[in-house]
Amino acid sequence: MDAVRTTEIAPTACPACGEVIEAATGHGTPAPGCVTLCIYCRAILIFTDDLQQRLMSNAEWAALPREQRELITRIREALQSEAWREAHP
Ligand SMILES: [Zn+2]
Repeated sequence: MDAVRTTEIAPTACPACGEVIEAATGHGTPAPGCVTLCIYCRAILIFTDDLQQRLMSNAEWAALPREQRELITRIREALQSEAWREAHP
């Protein structure tokens, strides 16, 4: 399995919170159909064919392999605790 890494991407606004996302964290480099997370609001996003980002639908989430859902859930929890630490120094 590839290591989780962060890759710089063309800045795009998160479709959920509007913050500009300039990096993607996940397995390998972003490609169409890859799942990513907004680091600001932790929305689950998918790269489109032109590497823009859109919200993942519930049906798409349900169709993911269980291991991938667990990984994404763990990353979301890690992002949550980082945000919590920043807010509670
Ligand atoms: Zn967001």
